[in-house]
Amino acid sequence: MSASELHGDHPALDLLNTVMTVDGAKVERWTSGGDVLEWLRTLEEGADALPARAPAGLLEAARALREQLRGLVAARKDGAPVDVAALNALLARAPRRLVVHAQDGALRLANAYEGEPTDALLAPVVEAAARLLTEEKQDLVKRCENPECTLWFLDKSKSHQRRWCSMGLCGNRHKVASFRKRKAAA
Ligand SMILES: [Zn+2]
Repeated sequence: MSASELHGDHPALDLLNTVMTVDGAKVERWTSGGDVLEWLRTLEEGADALPARAPAGLLEAARALREQLRGLVAARKDGAPVDVAALNALLARAPRRLVVHAQDGALRLANAYEGEPTDALLAPVVEAAARLLTEEKQDLVKRCENPECTLWFLDKSKSHQRRWCSMGLCGNRHKVASFRKRKAAA
């Protein structure tokens, strides 16, 4: 699963999109801790510090986090009060510090997270969500316009006219449906 497959164009929205609805059926991308780990590997932040094996409870923790963050993102988008205390509690679960790694004669500065192993692994995702809520224009945080689609994305297009998670999934379907409607009306 690559980031582009999830259509979010932002790690926090890709996170929400790891569960989606296709033709009315729920499609869950995460069925094991290994799946979560594989997704974390696609993120820029923290990917180099991932363990070979998923710690116990990662799947459950990641799914719970996903739904909690979905609530925050939706509240922000809909202009409802955002539970800042809940977000801060999530951020506090894995404090960040900087560490220097020596690798092949080069020195590299990276983030390290403290806390429970699952919290430390998911910390970059919590930070990405906090950034989405505070730094991105909420007009550009969008839900796919297909009412049956549950995907979110950050509209990075120049014209800011993006309407669909992807042309392949929903855009073309809309085109075909409106073409049929026009034809039926003619
Ligand atoms: Zn869609």
